[in-house]
Amino acid sequence: PDGRRPAGPEARIDLQALRGNVEVLQRSAGSAAIMAVVKANAYGHGLVPCALAAQSAGANWLGTATPREALALRRAAVGGRILCWLWTPDGPFSEAVSADIDISVSGRWALDKVCEAAAGLGRSARVHLKADTGLGRNGCTPADWTSLLSAAMAAQKDGLLNVVGVWSHLACADEPTHPSIDAQVEAFRHAVAAAERFGADLEVRHLANSAATLLLPETRFDLVRTGLSLFGLSPAPEHGTSASFGLRPVMTLVAPLASVKRVPAGHGVSYGHDYRTATETSLGLVPVGFGAGIPRHASGAASVAVAGRRYRAVGRIAMDQFVIDLGDSAATVGDEVVLFGPGERGEPTAEDWARAAGTIAYEIVTRIASDVPRVYL
Ligand code: PLP
Repeated sequence: PDGRRPAGPEARIDLQALRGNVEVLQRSAGSAAIMAVVKANAYGHGLVPCALAAQSAGANWLGTATPREALALRRAAVGGRILCWLWTPDGPFSEAVSADIDISVSGRWALDKVCEAAAGLGRSARVHLKADTGLGRNGCTPADWTSLLSAAMAAQKDGLLNVVGVWSHLACADEPTHPSIDAQVEAFRHAVAAAERFGADLEVRHLANSAATLLLPETRFDLVRTGLSLFGLSPAPEHGTSASFGLRPVMTLVAPLASVKRVPAGHGVSYGHDYRTATETSLGLVPVGFGAGIPRHASGAASVAVAGRRYRAVGRIAMDQFVIDLGDSAATVGDEVVLFGPGERGEPTAEDWARAAGTIAYEIVTRIASDVPRVYL
């Protein structure tokens, strides 16, 4: 699309950048395998194209939170290993087992559901037992770990499942000196050792997310689960930028200018007139707003680029549009506005928008509405 004028807002997805990021992460991960975490529509970048691109660059595993996403991958004929970890009691256990999806089990009810599904299908399920080593979210607490192990290994003897993984998730990987990290690594080693004592023949032990993969070698074990970094964004902006980690942002969000008009000094802009022009100026209208996931909290703080030059978003960001102060720019209606991108041609990055909105880059990219077309490069 370089040189092409967009007809409306669109998110350009640079799959070559994504593949390059997998290679960078593989260098950090050393001998550990890479799981491309493609939950939340691949962090807003598009589930299937990103999954395929990551696989083609050597990511042997895919990870999703919801079973709906894992099954959508299979429906799109995506092969390879897929781990799915966010289950609810009425979730599609049977469909997942028959689609050869690895299932995370954090407790007894989920184990029972997996066994029931496997028995019904007459085949065994692949299970990763999840330990809560300190995040306090999903996962089995140390107090219940041996009873979960004992039930899981009994089911394995019955041919209903294979415990192929033990895993956990870190709370503070983006703060590499946080004392919880050593405590979680230690608890994880205990959980793994107990599983092995119970006779589990583990294929993968996994703990690290993006920040841990890049910053904490002792957390890498056999497999690292990388999400944000795959999409070229820094998982720990206080400890490194995308560029310093060698990552390249994958999404560029653009929209055409929908109007450009000259207004006098003192002109109120958008709801509530939070902004008034200081001098005569040109106002540009960007036809995308919080309805498509642009954070309203960034009103007055974010900027965009037109022809490589930055202009501030002024006044409140509305549901489907916002205004930029173009000053004396020669920009005209139809010109391309770059809301964020890799930052290599003067445009802001998703991290800049996150700072402007008081949030994290994860939220900026995942919120871009699914009806904003993704254009794959
Ligand atoms: N593993 C699990 C269980 C997750 O929930 C996530 C996402 O938050 C990840 C890995 C990937 O995290 P990140 O995007 O920080 O790499």
